[in-house]
Amino acid sequence: MQRLRDLSRLVEAVYDELDHTFGTYQRNSGLACRPGCGACCNNPEIEATPLEMLPLALTFYDQGRAEQVLAELEAYSGFACYHYVRHSLDGILGQCGVYQQRPAICRMFGAAGVKGKQGETRLSVCRTIKQDHSDKYQQTLITMLTEPAPKMAEGKDRVRQLDYALGKQDMPINQALKVAIERVLFIAYYSGFEQTEEVA
Ligand code: SF4
Ligand code: SF4
Repeated sequence: MQRLRDLSRLVEAVYDELDHTFGTYQRNSGLACRPGCGACCNNPEIEATPLEMLPLALTFYDQGRAEQVLAELEAYSGFACYHYVRHSLDGILGQCGVYQQRPAICRMFGAAGVKGKQGETRLSVCRTIKQDHSDKYQQTLITMLTEPAPKMAEGKDRVRQLDYALGKQDMPINQALKVAIERVLFIAYYSGFEQTEEVA
């Protein structure tokens, strides 16, 4: 279990770097999210790896809620990330219910770099941000020629390389959390078993 906790701390350290790198880029370019918008969380197909969900899975375990959340995820048939808190009926407005432990993709999405067909870095900006900041978007396209945006794929890889087994597969975000919680419960079960054996 200690190995899983150490791994989770390494993931969180990378998250601090991603927050800094992508947050700074988005602030400096003026391509910030629309206040109150949560439209991209209103979609269960957002992809993450179980490794990205490990800090959240461990938090639920430490709170004694891991089995409960697992059961809720299994029964969940909503059309959003399970942790999205809607503030409007259509789901456009809302907020993250697990902001501190959100996965890597949620720390980078909005305005960031993606790899183009020729290997070049292209600017990816969500439609809402483009509408709200069309001048800054045009300006940033020009700036990209000399100052490329940080790439989301590199951010994902920074996490992935910490543990290839848990980090290799992207899957829908709610499924990724399920797999991470199952992993935590599995390791916790066998850690307890080993401790009992040692005592006996
Ligand atoms: S974890 Fe939070 S930020 Fe990421 S998709 Fe879910 S609600 Fe949105
Ligand atoms: S990235 Fe775009 S859709 Fe997502 S919260 Fe920001 S403004 Fe809204």
